[in-house]
Amino acid sequence: MSAQRSAHQISTSRRRVGLWLIGALGGVGTTVAVGLSAWRRGLIDATGLVTALPLFRELDLDAPEAFVLGGHDIRQTTWQQTALELHQRAGIFSSELLAGCREDLEAWSANIRPGTLLHVGETIAALADLPNLPCHETPRQAIQRVQQDLQNFRQTHQLDQVVVVNVASTEPPFSTTEVHQSWPRLAERLAERRTDALLPASSIYALATIELGWPYVNFTPSLGASFPAAIQFAEQQGAAVAGQDGKTGETLLKTVLAPMFAHRHLRVLSWVGHNIFGNRDGLVLNDPRNKESKIRTKDQVLAHILGYKPQTLVSIEYIESLDDWKTAWDHIHFQGFLGVKMILQFIWQGCDSILAAPLVIDLARLALLAQRRGEKGILRHLACFFKNPMGVQEHDFFRQFAMLENYVTSAIGQPTRSAQPHN
Ligand code: NAD
Repeated sequence: MSAQRSAHQISTSRRRVGLWLIGALGGVGTTVAVGLSAWRRGLIDATGLVTALPLFRELDLDAPEAFVLGGHDIRQTTWQQTALELHQRAGIFSSELLAGCREDLEAWSANIRPGTLLHVGETIAALADLPNLPCHETPRQAIQRVQQDLQNFRQTHQLDQVVVVNVASTEPPFSTTEVHQSWPRLAERLAERRTDALLPASSIYALATIELGWPYVNFTPSLGASFPAAIQFAEQQGAAVAGQDGKTGETLLKTVLAPMFAHRHLRVLSWVGHNIFGNRDGLVLNDPRNKESKIRTKDQVLAHILGYKPQTLVSIEYIESLDDWKTAWDHIHFQGFLGVKMILQFIWQGCDSILAAPLVIDLARLALLAQRRGEKGILRHLACFFKNPMGVQEHDFFRQFAMLENYVTSAIGQPTRSAQPHN
């Protein structure tokens, strides 16, 4: 099957697409692989997938059978192994489900390639156990190696399109400077061999994808494509980008409940959120530098929705025994009529990977569609999926979802263009 056929010739059922996961072998990446395999084999229904709602029925989204998976990681393991570990440690996936998905997991694990550790910080670097991970590459060399892996994946599997989604560990915050404001200026510096950080790994993957003109989604709080030079470059290359940091649990509830207080004219005095969880993500976030990135994206939503900043506290603590199960306890102190103070408390107990994985599949399907529609730059209609949506100041979940509904309504029946270019 030629990858250069026009989209008009490719019916939805015959299209073949790739989902390339950065951080493929983590909890979220593994659950995406198990979930897509189980869905395509009819072992599960589509509960949890937003794009399986009736709203999306008439959109030309890729069916689960169209997907081939691959990705980058820095650890030496396989999807069969990481799925088994999640099953044993966190009690998710039944043995029967894993047996049913084994063949896909084995085949897809062969597509995983060594990633880059460029400026990821000590805590993430300590996770790496792959022998011969290159550690002295310039940013340009790392970008080219990533692109070679992406191109090989596409050619080997004869894919019409590939979307890249970052589900790797959260990097410490990265301070951008003048050079990150303009693509031509940044491009000049990529070949320099330097000891200080020009770009973190998340942005290496993002720029590699954008340069190919392929869609890129950042499900993490790491920098990725969230700076002016990368967005300019995406527009220039015709690449669609979206991010950042998936909105799956406590923050989702914040952006659902805060509009209620705003619309009832109840004044939020303070909002305290304590989060406890285990798993590898929790271990990485236990480093105060990495945690800072997460707290920034979780803490900013209230002021935007309420129009003022109540006192807030967000804590994230690593409790090993909880593994992939997160508990959030939120205490909301608010004031009503005649100055009377009241309290709302909630406890959220969610399984992190199970909440995140279907959204990654949704984002992959919607980003692939956007590229076929010729959309480039930031995909603002995907804001409801993120804690810190790129290019959008709106944090109210219902308004964000209305943006997605409007997009779907306008996209139904519209023609899509050819498969992505070969660079
Ligand atoms: P995890 O620790 O289980 O997986 C992360 C994976 O990334 C690991 O396999 C690790 O080896 C790999 N990795 C780290 N640095 C890499 C690099 N430079 N290149 C390639 N691979 C690299 O974490 P997780 O629970 O799967 O979460 C993944 C990411 O998604 C985190 O950044 C997390 O904050 C974000 N996220 C998760 C949720 C959720 O689980 N509900 C919600 C929003 C955002």
